[in-house]
Amino acid sequence: MSRISAMRSPVRPAVTGSTGDDLATLLVTGQDGDVEFAFVSGNPALDLAGTVLSRRDEPIDVLAAPADLERWVAECDELPDRVTADVPTFESALSLREATYRLALDRVLDRPFDPASLKIVNDTAAGPAPTIKLSDAGLHMSGDLRAVLSQIARSGIAVLADPHACLKECGRTGCTRIYLDRSRGARRTWCGMDECGNRVKAAAYRARRRAATTAEGRGPEGTI
Ligand SMILES: [Zn+2]
Repeated sequence: MSRISAMRSPVRPAVTGSTGDDLATLLVTGQDGDVEFAFVSGNPALDLAGTVLSRRDEPIDVLAAPADLERWVAECDELPDRVTADVPTFESALSLREATYRLALDRVLDRPFDPASLKIVNDTAAGPAPTIKLSDAGLHMSGDLRAVLSQIARSGIAVLADPHACLKECGRTGCTRIYLDRSRGARRTWCGMDECGNRVKAAAYRARRRAATTAEGRGPEGTI
């Protein structure tokens, strides 16, 4: 994995909602102030779709510029370490992302695939794929961004076509990430524990504490 220097501007700050839910801030800002990506969906195409956070409320796009996409590809374990993104290919990537999200949502909602999105994903998958090589170090994959997009589209098709693949939307209200649930009995609730599960549990704990404190405050002794 390569880390490109953090000289770029961080994600726009207007991500903290008035609800006090600062999840997005936590998610997208790393220790160095740079954008931090989540690879929790179990599939590169779903992870790409997940680069727009809270799609229904206040969408936050963590791929704001071609350099963001270069870093996203570098950080994704299943893609080549290094690609260069020009503007047209970056826009193709965003188009693939939105089409993939739409098709994944169609799967989650058990409705027919959107034809325009199918065309985008299928056309992208028809492009040349990355080269893979085996060595003692393992698998090495190389290819330009077009090949990477083709690879992402292929992997998206594989999961969307699999009748046994259990696709779910994250259980945290406001998180619209769709993930592949491979857990035994498909009992997973969150896209990721760090991203959502722990936050929901912490919020529930705080709510219980608040409720208990209020109840005690109303008690006969009037203590808290
Ligand atoms: Zn989530």
